[in-house]
Amino acid sequence: MLQIEPHEIQIDCPTTTRGSYAWQSILKARDVISRGAVWRVGSGESINIWRDRWLLEDHHRRIITPGPNLLVHSTVNELITEPQMVWDHSLIDSLFIPYDAEAIKHIPLSNHKHADKITWPGNMNGEYSVRSGYRFLVDEEDKSLPSSSRPDPRQSLWRSIWALKIPKKCQMFAWKASREALPTKLNLYKRHIPVDSMCEICGEIEEDAIHALWNCKQIQSFHVGKSFRSTPAVDFADLLSKVLHVGRSSDPETFIVICWALWQRRNKLRIHQEVEPINQVGSKAKCYLEEYNRENDHSNPNPQAAPATRWMPPKMLRYKINYDGAVFKETNEAGIGVIVRDSQGLVMASLTQKVLFPLSVPSIEAWAVKRSIQFALEIGITEAEFEGDSQTIVNALNAQHPSLAPFGLLLADAKELASKLQNFSFSHVKREGNRLAHALARKAHSCNSLEIWMESIPPDLEQLYLSCLNLL
Ligand SMILES: [Zn+2]
Repeated sequence: MLQIEPHEIQIDCPTTTRGSYAWQSILKARDVISRGAVWRVGSGESINIWRDRWLLEDHHRRIITPGPNLLVHSTVNELITEPQMVWDHSLIDSLFIPYDAEAIKHIPLSNHKHADKITWPGNMNGEYSVRSGYRFLVDEEDKSLPSSSRPDPRQSLWRSIWALKIPKKCQMFAWKASREALPTKLNLYKRHIPVDSMCEICGEIEEDAIHALWNCKQIQSFHVGKSFRSTPAVDFADLLSKVLHVGRSSDPETFIVICWALWQRRNKLRIHQEVEPINQVGSKAKCYLEEYNRENDHSNPNPQAAPATRWMPPKMLRYKINYDGAVFKETNEAGIGVIVRDSQGLVMASLTQKVLFPLSVPSIEAWAVKRSIQFALEIGITEAEFEGDSQTIVNALNAQHPSLAPFGLLLADAKELASKLQNFSFSHVKREGNRLAHALARKAHSCNSLEIWMESIPPDLEQLYLSCLNLL
């Protein structure tokens, strides 16, 4: 993991010298970061309104409203009213077109002035990783193709490969093969590397990806997907998208693993290592895939034995407070639900509140936990177990280091508020155990802005409440 500080991006290192491979990768990563990173608004003082990337929407990171010349050096804090730390809606509406204005107003702000941070949006936790950087590059490359109104076929090919339950190395292999990026003999030949370009196995035809993995006469008998042979494929990408497009029935997993195994065998052959007979490649690949699935099958083999998750009373402290968020896409709003119960399951208080959608599900969950702690303090509770159904948020709450994610400041606020309690804990429960908080969050849709029920819940949720209580 790499935490990114602003100054790290501004360093200029010479890229002309032929450094080591590792160093070049680091330079490459830095380049990726500077193109893909996004500011998370703390105080807003370090962020230029017009030039920097600081909006939270995937395809809308920068302000598109042209900036008036006079304001070219203005920073984001000028759009924030202090000391309340809220967006200045009327100023924002007067400066920006509605598309930008809405995006700004939905960015969650902390009650406190934190430093602005450069974060990496490709990862849930805001930290840079090689894998998310790689995906960013792939996406960016796809975007740089001539634009068309249709979704890019290569992007959807990549997504389909990524979704398959096969080892990562096989996914990477399939992706490379479909981009003609394997070091096939024809590819080497084209790059003026002196090789004989004929197939390693049959020696009759030039070896490109589609030949080595599909067309070679020697492999046709045991390869899966015979139905695809009726129409010849242009290249491997064409073949693979057909196999993936047909989906389950064509068994794309086995198809790819056989291709991968063929390529491994071919590589060994190239350096004169011992290999298994070619007609065993198919069955060995299938065994390998079965083995992989057995090891990675975490689904419950015996569903009857698993007790259904349900709400449980607090374990250690006097109260348990469940919180949840809900998103109302149509109106770009969101809901927060909170319910406080004691060790017998009796309701102390419940809350439903409507807010602007902070542009991501984890952010609304973070807002919900912050609101739930605030609520506890408002009604005079001094100890509680806070329980939500987002593992991401609970992990971040229990982590030692502050989160760089867009929701990190909401969590910093939450922790700061929690420190005013005598005792507290943060735990995770599956959705079924958080049903009342969820229902309260959904209820915000039809509520004005905030509704609170002391020692009760809204009448229309009583049935649900009793059914949870019955289970105790
Ligand atoms: Zn061949």
